[in-house]
Amino acid sequence: MTTYAGEYLDLLPEPPAGRVTAAFRADVARAVGPGGLITEPAQLRTYECDGLTGYRVTPALVVLPATTEEVAAVVRLCARDGVPFVARGAGTGLSGGALPVADGIVIGLARMRAVLSVDVDDQRAVVQPGVTNAGISAAVAPHDLYFAPDPSSQVVCTIGGNVAENSGGAHCLKYGFTTNHVLALTFVTADGDVVQLGGDAPDPVGPDLRAVVLGSEGTLGVVTEITVRLLRRPEAVRTLVADFADAEDAGNAVSDIVAAGIVPAAVEMLDELAIDACERAVQAGYTPGCPAALVVELDGVAAEVEDEFERVQEICRRNRTTHVRIAADPEERARVWKGRKAAFAAMGRISPDYFVQDGVIPRTRLGSTLTRIRQMSEQAGLRVANVFHAGDGNLHPLVLYDGAVPGEAERAEHLATAIVELCVEQGGSITGEHGVGSDKACSMPKMFGPDDLTVMARVRAAFDPQGICNPGKVLPTPRLCGERPGPHRPHPLEAAGVIERL
Ligand SMILES: Cc1cc2nc3c(=O)[nH]c(=O)nc-3n(C[C@H](O)[C@H](O)[C@H](O)COP(=O)(O)OP(=O)(O)OC[C@H]3O[C@@H](n4cnc5c(N)ncnc54)[C@H](O)[C@@H]3O)c2cc1C
Repeated sequence: MTTYAGEYLDLLPEPPAGRVTAAFRADVARAVGPGGLITEPAQLRTYECDGLTGYRVTPALVVLPATTEEVAAVVRLCARDGVPFVARGAGTGLSGGALPVADGIVIGLARMRAVLSVDVDDQRAVVQPGVTNAGISAAVAPHDLYFAPDPSSQVVCTIGGNVAENSGGAHCLKYGFTTNHVLALTFVTADGDVVQLGGDAPDPVGPDLRAVVLGSEGTLGVVTEITVRLLRRPEAVRTLVADFADAEDAGNAVSDIVAAGIVPAAVEMLDELAIDACERAVQAGYTPGCPAALVVELDGVAAEVEDEFERVQEICRRNRTTHVRIAADPEERARVWKGRKAAFAAMGRISPDYFVQDGVIPRTRLGSTLTRIRQMSEQAGLRVANVFHAGDGNLHPLVLYDGAVPGEAERAEHLATAIVELCVEQGGSITGEHGVGSDKACSMPKMFGPDDLTVMARVRAAFDPQGICNPGKVLPTPRLCGERPGPHRPHPLEAAGVIERL
């Protein structure tokens, strides 16, 4: 076994602790001015977690800068005093990416929410990081333009968070993820310099540092301006919901649609539990008791859409669909999507608590993986609802549990982890779009070997040698993955061959 302590872990310095002194606070207050600082303990607690509420840390201070220059000034003070910082958008992340560091600060981008410019002819806009995803499309809608990536949280989540997570959404099957729609970034480095990454040209000269920052989960610096690509609204959109008696048939229909050369705008799947929850929450008109439903949307040139829409229905029939509902008008289409987009929140209607997972599998293994998840759910005695981006093979199993029942949360967490590991065994990934964050850092060695982790740590150290920028996220450390009490079990990093017990 190789000892990787020197190669990999030494590149991740322990974040310095206890540096938020009175002098630091005073300097930060001067940098951001009145209204830019939160110090009240009760208010600080509202920043203690993101959407992954099981992890909570109250930050020492929350700073709300209003300009790129203020962000840079705050980061320079952090670099001067060795204070760890975590950037935060709306806090809707589901992997604990915006979890604060004890004795560190949160840099909230909520005050930076202006659409700075819209270039209709060149189809791009420059926005601040606190603008919501849906807010971009709303701002450019009068020009018949929109921003394509559409996370289900789009009404609330920010473009800064989308960039950091390289977020996806239902329509990313056809249009690609956030990275495909961002041309340039204004970026504050971990020592407080302001740099431009990318540019107006689709393929700027030199290494693509814009792409390095996309999806880096706030571990390299703070994004303060984003140039996004805008698309023209398609001429035609057709949407259907196809019911199936068997999830395997629905999975096969997805594979057949793609194999036929059709690229739908979206193909989403919901199982019986998810349908039940959505119907109770928003009455989207899904069929109660249906074991699996596909939401398929096609968009583009009208004649092509009509032709492919017929072919999709034929493929669904060949795979034994029990019922096809076609959205008759934009209102019905909106109702279908309201159900799908409300699915996570709707779980509250059928369970006191849930863990949402985010794993990827090859699309062709959808049917068999869902069968295996059902078996694992039965063995664990816990219900699992499935609602996911079927076209991308991006699963979102929702493990339902009752936190008031002793031991149930632990069993649910165990099952959720086992499902993600099943995805890796199937040739997939531990995350499709929600990121690694705090939640899945310890699962990284399931996918990556010591050499891979070392390369990632080197990139991070090149941007942030002091290790003050969102420390403890993405890359596993013994401190982060901490050994659980009880009899000796190999540490996850030890089991993966990354470190060894001396
Ligand atoms: C109901 C629900 C549905 C969701 N559906 C989807 C979905 O369909 N697809 C999907 O991809 N995700 C989804 N998510 C997850 C989440 O909304 C996304 O990850 C989103 O991009 C997070 O944005 P945010 O503004 O809330 O970021 P936060 O949660 O505040 O932060 C997320 C990460 O980004 C970093 N960050 C934030 N702003 C900046 C910045 N300006 N510069 C540098 N780093 C920054 C943070 O440090 C953190 O690591 C869903 C979440 C919920 C609650």
